[in-house]
Amino acid sequence: MSLPPLLRPCPSCQGTGAIPNPAWQRYFAETHNQLYPENDPVHPWPAGPEEEPCPDCEGRGQVATTAGMQVLELVRWAEGRP
Ligand SMILES: [Zn+2]
Repeated sequence: MSLPPLLRPCPSCQGTGAIPNPAWQRYFAETHNQLYPENDPVHPWPAGPEEEPCPDCEGRGQVATTAGMQVLELVRWAEGRP
């Protein structure tokens, strides 16, 4: 007998662990993927980082399945034992 999958790719970030900053996506769309210097007069960098850690999986790219949550519950229960 084997367990069902306990983890699945995070649906919010498609398993990458990061959410791209929309301002940077627009920048690269406008510059055709060219990165200009930070203080370029025509294409200054947008504020903030290129991507943020995904809040739903805390940057890990995976989340627990229903079965995974049940295992977590069992572990918490076991840790509560003397
Ligand atoms: Zn995620």
